[in-house]
Amino acid sequence: MMTDTECIRATIEAVAGSGRPCLLCGGASCIVACFVPDTPQYRAALGVPAGKARLMFYSVCARCAAAVQADPGRFEPAIVEAFTATRARVH
Ligand SMILES: [Zn+2]
Repeated sequence: MMTDTECIRATIEAVAGSGRPCLLCGGASCIVACFVPDTPQYRAALGVPAGKARLMFYSVCARCAAAVQADPGRFEPAIVEAFTATRARVH
């Protein structure tokens, strides 16, 4: 049984090692970012059970990471859509 911390670390390493392209622009990614769906719409779209928190890890390039950090709300719909489309869910 993994602790939460071990589980999160393993997930980050899996995402980082997957060689997946940037979730937002499709370019080469170099950063693992974390999105926590915290609105009813996002939670429903991503199938997060009531009362549970879910961390969605995804890979992005440095440019998109900076853009998301500067204005997270602008990119949240795209992030949710990308996860919904690929069903690349992690818990
Ligand atoms: Zn990008």
